[in-house]
Amino acid sequence: MSKTISIAIDGPAGAGKSTIAKALAKELGYHYVDTGAIYRTVAYFLDLLGISPKDADGVERYLDELTIGIEYDEEGKQHMLMNGMDVSDEIRTQDISQKASLVSAHAVVRDVLLDMQRNVARKHNVIMDGRDIGTVVLPKATVKIFLTASAEVRAKRRTDELLAKGQKVTYEQTLKDIQQRDYQDSHRPIAPLKQAKDAVLLDTSELDIPQVLERMKEIIREKIAL
Ligand code: C5P
Repeated sequence: MSKTISIAIDGPAGAGKSTIAKALAKELGYHYVDTGAIYRTVAYFLDLLGISPKDADGVERYLDELTIGIEYDEEGKQHMLMNGMDVSDEIRTQDISQKASLVSAHAVVRDVLLDMQRNVARKHNVIMDGRDIGTVVLPKATVKIFLTASAEVRAKRRTDELLAKGQKVTYEQTLKDIQQRDYQDSHRPIAPLKQAKDAVLLDTSELDIPQVLERMKEIIREKIAL
């Protein structure tokens, strides 16, 4: 089998990772893997069972009962299946964002998901976004980009996104959520959110989507022919 190409995009919540990664994947014909959605699915499953995301024993006990499926529709949109049920929309709430951040700190959860993510990258050319793709999941990724923006800009983007989906959120609430997740994700002992040494840093605070896309393509072009 020929070697696959992988583009790792990491960064904090609301930096624009999924919007950009999705667009790039479409353009390049690569598989887009939103790894945050996988952690969200775990959090949602445990939440339905009434297990606290902080309860290490409960998380470990019930994780075995969850089968996670990742499917793509004709438009390339990633769907998350929880024991066969499509929960792609249900996992996109602020409550599940918080719970995903807590649940993702457990080693047992990260171990199970690590294999799942690596398997996809073994089979397909991928653009994978998350927190630890360049540092842990795909340390030999062909291209690594760390996407960031100020917390205020990220909160504004996330608020607009959730409001557009009809969710009742405020900017203040979202900013608090983002700051809390930034802290949790970057201070956990296992696979914390951090820029890989060989990743290119891109701050999107002052850039719109087409500008970020252009800059990303420049970074990618330095490593592979587009
Ligand atoms: O990217 P998204 O906001 O959907 O991720 C939800 C949560 O899942 C993050 O706050 C983070 O704690 C966790 N996550 C992770 N590692 C990844 C992707 C997401 O720990 N690769």
